[in-house]
Amino acid sequence: MLNQTTSDALFTQAKDLIPGGVNSPVRAFRSVGGTPVFMQSAAGAWLTDVDGNRYVDFINSWGPMILGHAPAVVLDAVRAALPHSLSFGAPTRRESELAQLITEMVPSIEKVRLVNSGTEACMSAIRVARGYTGRSKILKFEGCYHGHADAFLIAAGSGALTLGTPDSAGVTAGVAQDTLTVPYNDLPALQAAVAANPSQIAAIILEPVVGNMGLVVPQEGYLQALRALCTEHGIVLIFDEVMTGFRLAPGGAQELFGIVPDMTTLGKIIGGGLPVGAYGGRADIMNQVAPVGKVYQAGTLSGNPLATAAGLAQLRHLQQHPELYAQLDATTAHLADGSRQIAQELGLNYTVNRVGSMFSLFFTAAPVNNLEDAKQCDLPAFGRYFHAMLERGIYLAPSQFEALFISTAITDELVDKYLTACRESLVEAHRA
Ligand code: PMP
Repeated sequence: MLNQTTSDALFTQAKDLIPGGVNSPVRAFRSVGGTPVFMQSAAGAWLTDVDGNRYVDFINSWGPMILGHAPAVVLDAVRAALPHSLSFGAPTRRESELAQLITEMVPSIEKVRLVNSGTEACMSAIRVARGYTGRSKILKFEGCYHGHADAFLIAAGSGALTLGTPDSAGVTAGVAQDTLTVPYNDLPALQAAVAANPSQIAAIILEPVVGNMGLVVPQEGYLQALRALCTEHGIVLIFDEVMTGFRLAPGGAQELFGIVPDMTTLGKIIGGGLPVGAYGGRADIMNQVAPVGKVYQAGTLSGNPLATAAGLAQLRHLQQHPELYAQLDATTAHLADGSRQIAQELGLNYTVNRVGSMFSLFFTAAPVNNLEDAKQCDLPAFGRYFHAMLERGIYLAPSQFEALFISTAITDELVDKYLTACRESLVEAHRA
């Protein structure tokens, strides 16, 4: 058994002060049981908790730590920025440098606005799409997560799904009626929804590869058909690349699949671990944003000097080392294929979905192409597996409905450690 004495004490205290003891619901371990591990520090692939236990990190702060923890290139940039004040609330050179880099790496983004989170990015993007088109409705997909703005908490994925609250209390009926939802990877359902709401849909927003119901891959031709449908109906196509941006390829999922969206939302990874988000796209659409246009959006800490320093350093490093993408792909293929094979050898035939450096082991033998498929998983068995892995020093996402994010710090030796733990933990989780 892990010694979690300090974590447990901190959690007890936190629960008196913070709802559920956490500042983001999925951290509370509700769906896997037990109490969360409180972290102390991390370097490279390794996390150390407050009781001194060490774990290999397969979440990486839900994506942004693509170079592992505390990479020198990012820390040095933050250290250099530190003495020059933590915030100005006035423009700085680095904001344009980061914008320049983003537009270079993601060419569909002609203009970009920095915000402080993925939620803000997505919330702002749909406001802009509404302002641009003069239409009210948006369409999202069941099980996709775009942050916690009211309009998105309808059939939402991630923590909302994990906790069984995909439709949040506190969202008014008025807001909810402007959000249409259809199942992912179901083109006829999408076509029917668009046909039923002629000239009313401002935007279709989606995760081009879904990370928030576990990892779900767009089927062959799906994104192309979606692009054509949006063009035909004058709908703004928004790719939410908060997880996939700069991760699946230097230019994100849109580069990988060769699709040009009208707008893109970005987050986490462009801050290297500090709070940042961004939304951008075609210049004619982005010129709707104040002070040029009539769509209002603002932020006191937006373009924060430390966050832009960290983000610039991380993105520059990725741009200058394209070989890292091949490395991430190979490492993750090894992990995903190995997990699939182990499950097969144990007679479990579990489904493994992977794109680039994101993957999920689903506790079901059926294919997982949408939310309904994901919901078929054996969640109690997953909970037992999660804890068995934790005992063996492997830190996974504490929910079946999340993807794993691999960093460049995962070595072949750590892949072997993961696969050994995976075999033992699958056996343990299914022991009668
Ligand atoms: N979009 C996607 C695809 C996400 O995965 C997330 C968060 N995981 C968000 C938006 C919201 O980002 P944030 O938590 O930074 O508000």
